[in-house]
Amino acid sequence: MSGKVNIVWLRRDLRLEDNHALSLALRGKYPVLVVFLFDRIILDQLPDKNDARVSFIYRQIEFLKRELQQYGSDLLVGDTTPELFFEQLSKRFTIHSLFYNRDYEPYAVDRDRKIDHWAHGKGIESISLKDHVVLEPQEIRKPDHTAYSVFTPYYKKWREKLADGPLTRYPFQTNNLLKTTPLPLKSLQDLGFKYNPLESTFKRHIGDFSAIHYEQNRDFPAKNATSRLSTALRFGTVSIRSLVVQALKENEVFLKELAWREFFISILHLYPHVVTRSFKPQYDAITWRNDLKEFELWQKGLTGYPLVDAAMRELNETGYMHNRMRMVAASFLCKHLLIDWRWGESYFAQKLMDYELASNNGNWQWVAGSGCDAAPYFRVFNPYSQQEKFDPQLTYTRRWVRELGSSKYPKPIVEHSIARDRALQTYKEGLASF
Ligand code: FAD
Repeated sequence: MSGKVNIVWLRRDLRLEDNHALSLALRGKYPVLVVFLFDRIILDQLPDKNDARVSFIYRQIEFLKRELQQYGSDLLVGDTTPELFFEQLSKRFTIHSLFYNRDYEPYAVDRDRKIDHWAHGKGIESISLKDHVVLEPQEIRKPDHTAYSVFTPYYKKWREKLADGPLTRYPFQTNNLLKTTPLPLKSLQDLGFKYNPLESTFKRHIGDFSAIHYEQNRDFPAKNATSRLSTALRFGTVSIRSLVVQALKENEVFLKELAWREFFISILHLYPHVVTRSFKPQYDAITWRNDLKEFELWQKGLTGYPLVDAAMRELNETGYMHNRMRMVAASFLCKHLLIDWRWGESYFAQKLMDYELASNNGNWQWVAGSGCDAAPYFRVFNPYSQQEKFDPQLTYTRRWVRELGSSKYPKPIVEHSIARDRALQTYKEGLASF
């Protein structure tokens, strides 16, 4: 065992540049060892061993290892549970401090509390930093110190706070990295997964994205007009600060979308019951139809509604779905088919490369009407008028529904106005029964 080290634990901040915890540790007194853990508790729950998200993370780990090796250091990668990982690390190294960036999801909060407790018992200082958001849940409060559950006033406050001063950038200085010979990395196969090439179709960096025309074009799925950075934000290959700085210069509407992300992170953090229950409890009194056959047709993109089907096929084939299409497809499931939003949420969670509990849950509840600041339940997206407005030439739709117009394409599984009336009636009765 050599001298003392400081550990930086990367989790959903898989980058070296502008990383708060890493930057701070590198300014400390002791050499810094950067570590990452393939958390068995999470990995073992993934049903698909071909999961493209694991491949994305794995490749990113390879990039980071290479980058750190250039400076004579390396990324130490574990494959166990968090507690065992740190126990093993503490046997190998004399750890002075543990640095990590805060994560606000319930599982992460609980995990970090346990690790902090363990560190405390070992006399290791544990230092957590803000990095994943520009403003944390507790920073945005009403004058009476309670939390906002409506987006517009939340955003007003968020915006005011942002104007308080420029956002800090956290430089990556290499001189204090722990020198080490290259450290081994298990293969993806040894971790129990297969490589899924879909991962390489997702951006890791801001690249040449410009938000200047975001507002005019973002709702049209055929135009490549959104940033496509949700996966990079989810895994932290891009820093949220750099994107906020760009949004401040280029486009306020884009900035607002980044605030929605933080709004839902805050809601999940402050009201963790939303993971399994409706934010508004009366919405749990709705009697869903939950027809298995119809759920399967929705999943496969065989509802006979071209825009919904295009959206679902885009998701199945690419691991991505355009935001407006997510709203249309989700609304169709909850309202037209009266299937519990949790079923749809869980299907998206399996398929979306950018899947994030806070945004997925928040948006599904928003569409279902059960969430904070949700669309009123009587707002039922009309898939036909959405089609006319946002894909009038069928450019997007035909890209995914190749048999459109032929006898192979199915008839609608439900008639729009009948389904709409049924949804309104069912919601009304459910809410009244609460
Ligand atoms: P852009 O339009 O370029 O937006 C930039 C960033 O802002 C996004 O990357 C994202 O981080 C954030 N953002 C934009 N819109 C929203 C929003 N409505 N809510 C929260 N953050 C937003 N987003 C996820 O990151 N993970 C999810 O699991 C997820 N599930 C969703 C489920 C449903 C039913 C709906 C309606 C939306 C969901 N979203 C989710 C939000 C949104 O659809 C995606 O963030 C967006 O489509 C990603 O594409 P983009 O990066 O090109 O977005």
